[in-house]
Amino acid sequence: MLHSKNPIVDEALGALAFTPDIEAETSEIYARLKGKVSAIEWQIQAPLIAAINRLKREKNAVVLAHNYMTPDIFHGVGDYVGDSLGLAREAAKSDAKIIVQGGVHFMAETSKILAPEKTVLIPDLRAGCSLASSLTGEQLRLIKQRYPGLPVVSYVNTTADVKAETDICCTSANAVQVVEWAAKEWGVDRVILVPDEFLARNVARQTHIGIIAYRGACEVHERFNAQDIADVRAAHPNAVVLGHPECPPDVIAACDFTGSTTAMADYVTQNKPKQVVLITECSMADNVTADAGDGVEFLRPCNLCPHMKRITLEGIYASLLTMTHEVTVDAAIIDKARLSVQRMIDMPPTATPARYDMIKARHHVDVELIS
Ligand code: SF4
Repeated sequence: MLHSKNPIVDEALGALAFTPDIEAETSEIYARLKGKVSAIEWQIQAPLIAAINRLKREKNAVVLAHNYMTPDIFHGVGDYVGDSLGLAREAAKSDAKIIVQGGVHFMAETSKILAPEKTVLIPDLRAGCSLASSLTGEQLRLIKQRYPGLPVVSYVNTTADVKAETDICCTSANAVQVVEWAAKEWGVDRVILVPDEFLARNVARQTHIGIIAYRGACEVHERFNAQDIADVRAAHPNAVVLGHPECPPDVIAACDFTGSTTAMADYVTQNKPKQVVLITECSMADNVTADAGDGVEFLRPCNLCPHMKRITLEGIYASLLTMTHEVTVDAAIIDKARLSVQRMIDMPPTATPARYDMIKARHHVDVELIS
């Protein structure tokens, strides 16, 4: 039996059973999880999935599930799935009273900023992010003093305090577009782009705008190196290698395509390569498999995000059952931060997803790194 530290949750978990009704109710979800979940695992997961979906209906709640959630969450209980930008858009327009964030803390804060009237829950308060914790609002205020008059573009992987000091947020799906918009609006030829150094370096190669960058990094993507790509190409010469722009530039240079998690998923479903490597978090490949079809083989390497993996089916169930852990953001911070997030949401969608791999289009402009 599954256990939590809460007797109410334990009692509810103990009452869950894999009955023929539950099996029938969840059969379509099981079909999407083919090959990702064993029959034994499914006997535990199916009752939890059914119970979560029932609680969502009873409480008027939705689960926003990031692409890095495990497949049982992504396919089983996610009402909206996608990258940070897509989930932020859904948080803003959802009619639900309760949002359960299938993702990390900064994503839950972003939901609260966009929907302050809703209750936003995160199943595990320890689900942080190395990028978001690399920069504080106070540090950003000091950076702004050093570069007066320049717009601040912050990656959405930041705390609410940082967003409150930001002019416009971006994600990897629209970072180049946002940087160019900010430079034009402010009438300048340089912008501050924080906190991800590697994203900043990869953006700098796609634009003439000067980039002032910070030394933050994603602990999942910074661990990849060019040798990983060389090794996989040696072992699988025909494999297509897709990378995420939080990876170091030499990794991106060795990939065939680089884009946001949604851009990577679109690439696989549209091009259906026989063998593909996703240089990103491991659950991406598991979640894309269902839409990619049987003809696509996903190869390693990939890295796990320990923060994303703190979110589990049991945690989501307990969260909805006991209404924990509610994510709150100071009203004054929400007021300031909403402008920067809303500007990002209001950017017109690009005709094609942002790409960072067009070698011929590179401008080879280096970034100015804030010391
Ligand atoms: S994958 Fe990287 S950026 Fe995303 S939550 Fe994990 S540490 Fe943060």
